[in-house]
Amino acid sequence: MAEDTGRIVRKIEELSEGQEINLMHLCGTHEDTISKYNLRSILPPNVKLLSGPGCPVCIIPDTDLQEVFHLLENRDVILTTFGDMARVPFEDRSLFYYRSKGKDVRIVYSVFDAVEIAKREDKDVVFFGIGFETTMPSIAVAIKDSPENFYVYSAHRFFIPAIEALVSEDMKIDGFINPGHVSTIVGVKAYERYRKYGIPMAIAGFEPQDVLLAVYMLVRAVKENDGGIFNEYTRAVKYEGNVKAQEVMNEVFYSRDGEWRGLGTIPETGVGIRNDFEEKDAEKVFEDVFENFAPKEDKRKKHCRCGEVLKGLITPKDCRLFMTACTPRNPIGPCMVSFEGTCNIWAKYSIS
Ligand code: SF4
Ligand code: SF4
Repeated sequence: MAEDTGRIVRKIEELSEGQEINLMHLCGTHEDTISKYNLRSILPPNVKLLSGPGCPVCIIPDTDLQEVFHLLENRDVILTTFGDMARVPFEDRSLFYYRSKGKDVRIVYSVFDAVEIAKREDKDVVFFGIGFETTMPSIAVAIKDSPENFYVYSAHRFFIPAIEALVSEDMKIDGFINPGHVSTIVGVKAYERYRKYGIPMAIAGFEPQDVLLAVYMLVRAVKENDGGIFNEYTRAVKYEGNVKAQEVMNEVFYSRDGEWRGLGTIPETGVGIRNDFEEKDAEKVFEDVFENFAPKEDKRKKHCRCGEVLKGLITPKDCRLFMTACTPRNPIGPCMVSFEGTCNIWAKYSIS
């Protein structure tokens, strides 16, 4: 393995010949692989790996978080969500804070745990749903088959159209390492729309060699001026993707504008629940509560640079709060909260 790795790295070195090449990955797990195996240190310094908005917790804007807080403050519901999301702070609050104040906030490992809670309890159960195309099919299944007292607040985002914002911003990205898990659902074909930009993309698996092979494919493509779509992860990703998962996702959800932390509003990326399933849509069912909601700004986050971390413009250590005021035990921004967040990953592997 070490020999193979050395060979791939030498090839990358030869092909890039000192040319500055910026590659952005779009997946928290890729950042984990890169940091854990210290891949940046074995690549030539002219080939840079930037981390992009690949973590579903990090990109959820404060507006969604505050709406859920507002619901908890105004209705006696059981709020269910994933553990990472419950730790994201807004001012001095988080969902765990509400739990400590007696609100019924429960951590689940999958949406189906939340459905089980709804089966057992008489109260209304709201699932605070986050995630990309990877998680949305299972949430769609839960929406289609769950008891009457189960609702979803949909803070999901369609990931594929969000890449548009990254390519059209003036960020000088020479290639993208595309997320493996999202790609198993959407397939290689979902990226066809990006061929027109002439920026190569390579779908990669999660082993260190997968990432290095994707880097090799991209460096070669840059060299040959080939803006193609490459699939390094053929063992899991097919051209058409998982058609059944796509069907159920599209049956239940539709796309609308979506706000992303650090990237602003991106068309087609927000995820609404279709009218056919409106009795499951927390936004509609609790419409009267959300009517009097007004978002605020979190002054504590004034110095947090998550937005720039998510765009690959800076690394965590460029943020002056990194491992000083902001640590995994006391996170200020979502990039430090989430296990897929770049700041948290850099802290975990002590990259300073
Ligand atoms: S959901 Fe999957 S593809 Fe997306 S960031 Fe997490 S691991 Fe990567
Ligand atoms: S170190 Fe903390 S404050 Fe700085 S960008 Fe990361 S999450 Fe935000």
